[in-house]
Amino acid sequence: MIRKVLTYPDPVLKKASKDVEVFDSKLHLLLDDMYETMIAENGIGLAAIQIGVDLNVLIINIPQEEDGVQIKENLIEAINPQIIKKEGTTVYKEGCLSIPEYYEEVNRAEKIEIVFKDRFGNDKSISTDSLLAIAFQHEMDHLKGMLFVERLPMLKRRKFEKEWKKKSRENKKF
Ligand SMILES: [Zn+2]
Repeated sequence: MIRKVLTYPDPVLKKASKDVEVFDSKLHLLLDDMYETMIAENGIGLAAIQIGVDLNVLIINIPQEEDGVQIKENLIEAINPQIIKKEGTTVYKEGCLSIPEYYEEVNRAEKIEIVFKDRFGNDKSISTDSLLAIAFQHEMDHLKGMLFVERLPMLKRRKFEKEWKKKSRENKKF
């Protein structure tokens, strides 16, 4: 089922998520809904809190480099993820389903090592320095209740707030 994606400045997005303790059909349903929602919204990643569920659950589906197609075989479902190693820095122009149509450059670690559980509670780990590394850091911020605009330097942040308020006014619908 496609769920509603919460958008900035919804206060729920500031909530810190909790670890999953039971890997049951309820979790699987959440993951399936998150996948449907992410694809419907044209996203490459989604954290559970973005659909209002405060659990440490995120999914990422990086499009293939050759043709930009998102295939389900590449879907990563990460439960209770933890970054255990960070190296270097990189800059990437990020966007977020919770802040539609806004893109800005953000500094992140270049290479990360992550440990997490899959939907059945099995231990997994990934070491990456590709777009996946950026996506993981972006989604893990969501689990802490943090949005990428909070990582922007003061001036860019102020500019964003101004533009966002203006846009929200213009988009008022009856
Ligand atoms: Zn996001």
